[in-house]
Amino acid sequence: MGILEVLPPPPVTSVASLMTLQHPASTPITSLTAKKRPAVRYAIRVLLLFCVLLVAAQAWSAWSARQSRLAEHAAATSNMANALAAQAESTVRIVDTVLASVVERVEHDGMSPASSDRLRTHMRNMVLQVKELHGLFVYGADGSWLVSSIERPIAGNNADREYFQYHLNHRSRNTYIGKPIRSRSSGVWILPVSRRLDNPDGSFAGVALGTVQIAFFAELYESFDVGTEGVVLLAHDDGTLIYRRPFNDKLIGTSVAAGPVYQMYKSSGPVGTAMLRSRVDGVVRLYSYRHLGGLPLIVATAQSKKEILAEWNQSTLFMSGATVLVVLLLAGVGARLVRQIMIRDQLEAELRIAEEHLQQRNQELTVLATRDALTGLANRRHFEETLRLELKRARRNGAPLSLVLLDVDFFKPYNDRYGHVAGDDCLRQVAAALRGGLARPTDLAARYGGEEFAIVLPATGQVGARYLAERLRLTIMELGIAHADNPPGIVTVSAGTCTFHAAAGDNDDPEALVQRADALLYRAKAEGRNRVSTDLGNTGMAPPPEFSI
Ligand code: GH3
Ligand code: MG
Ligand code: MG
Repeated sequence: MGILEVLPPPPVTSVASLMTLQHPASTPITSLTAKKRPAVRYAIRVLLLFCVLLVAAQAWSAWSARQSRLAEHAAATSNMANALAAQAESTVRIVDTVLASVVERVEHDGMSPASSDRLRTHMRNMVLQVKELHGLFVYGADGSWLVSSIERPIAGNNADREYFQYHLNHRSRNTYIGKPIRSRSSGVWILPVSRRLDNPDGSFAGVALGTVQIAFFAELYESFDVGTEGVVLLAHDDGTLIYRRPFNDKLIGTSVAAGPVYQMYKSSGPVGTAMLRSRVDGVVRLYSYRHLGGLPLIVATAQSKKEILAEWNQSTLFMSGATVLVVLLLAGVGARLVRQIMIRDQLEAELRIAEEHLQQRNQELTVLATRDALTGLANRRHFEETLRLELKRARRNGAPLSLVLLDVDFFKPYNDRYGHVAGDDCLRQVAAALRGGLARPTDLAARYGGEEFAIVLPATGQVGARYLAERLRLTIMELGIAHADNPPGIVTVSAGTCTFHAAAGDNDDPEALVQRADALLYRAKAEGRNRVSTDLGNTGMAPPPEFSI
């Protein structure tokens, strides 16, 4: 990790102060950790949501733009269909008005040569004046040509024409709009508009015919802008096609009854608008149609869907491209952000591990700072600190405090004879015996130095201290560690015990107490070793009874 190396070495202080170095703000960090949420998942979700919203907003805006464009064009084509219908109606009405005047003349003036001449002149004038009108004709009851507006009439018979047969077989005097046909006089496509002529007795007298050149509609309808793929059509309401833009000669007179416009007319009534696919060229168009009021005609206009949506397609393509760019940008930035969060999380985890290591090392340092390496007992520094604190406590609460100093007898010769390794092992065994011999948790055994040990016994008087010292001495003897240079033949210890009584006015200086214990230890050595020497201090107590081995 390298973190421990850069940290300054901890100041050598008490265990308590070492412990406080570890978590100066442990409580707030713990509570924040509990509140911490997985930031990566949050970031990814927020970014995804943002992208989805952006795409959805763009899709919605494109869709509504498309709908309103289609709606605008539906209104426009419908208006155009109305205009076309009005034009077609007015054309037929004008022709019919002229025709009505012709019928009136024939029926009123008869067909004498003079009347016929007058009628011919009138008809020629009408054709010249009324641009919608291509020709005017009067046929007899047998279909023969009686009078016409053309210069050189042909000697023909029109009894075979559909409109003629209609009038022959129907008594109705209403205007009849026939199927588009090729004119026998001029060879062009015409729309026949006819009326029945009656004799005074009501019998069939012939037919008056006015024709409108299909090219007239073509010219009229070409002036409307329906785009390059647009369609304008005029049809009989039985489905016979009269005119279709783009113009195709072959289509005139054919039936469009199976086509989409006619089908819609049949199902939806006289006016309608819909998106339909043409049967003629397969193009999908927005159609508007209208049936002419009082006339058996339908007009329809249509614009190709592709052309209507061309502009929309372009702007949608542009906006979609821009959206994709923004989403990609967001994804890029998001990926970097997520990566940064992941790095931060990883650093945090590594820091936590480093912190745990540091704690562990601190604990080890604490042990090192307070323990003796060879025996595992408290070291001298710890002993002195404990003695100082316990003396203060004893002075405060008035309880006695005893100190025992122990020293292995003739340990130098032991080392010399058995070697230092055996000497160390002996010290470890003695230390273990001392540790095992202490019952109270407040008692502290320490290695004072070399083969000397010190035991701090809080709340323990002389008798207790002496009793404990004797018991420890016996315990060490019971170890039975061979020691040829010691008169008993085994390892023994000598001990000095002294006790501090605050009430007796004892000196509460730790060093003074140690010196007292040391002097007693020296006395025990002087008196023959393997014994405990006890100081009664200035308590005025009688010497304690000797403990026998
Ligand atoms: P006495 O009965 O008067 O105490 O005699 P002694 O030989 O024990 O006394 P002295 O103080 O002269 O000798 C202490 C010896 O303890 C010196 C050294 O060889 C030995 N010693 C001190 N510390 C250690 C240690 O950590 N390991 C070992 N193996 N020996 C030690
Ligand atoms: Mg010694
Ligand atoms: Mg010794």
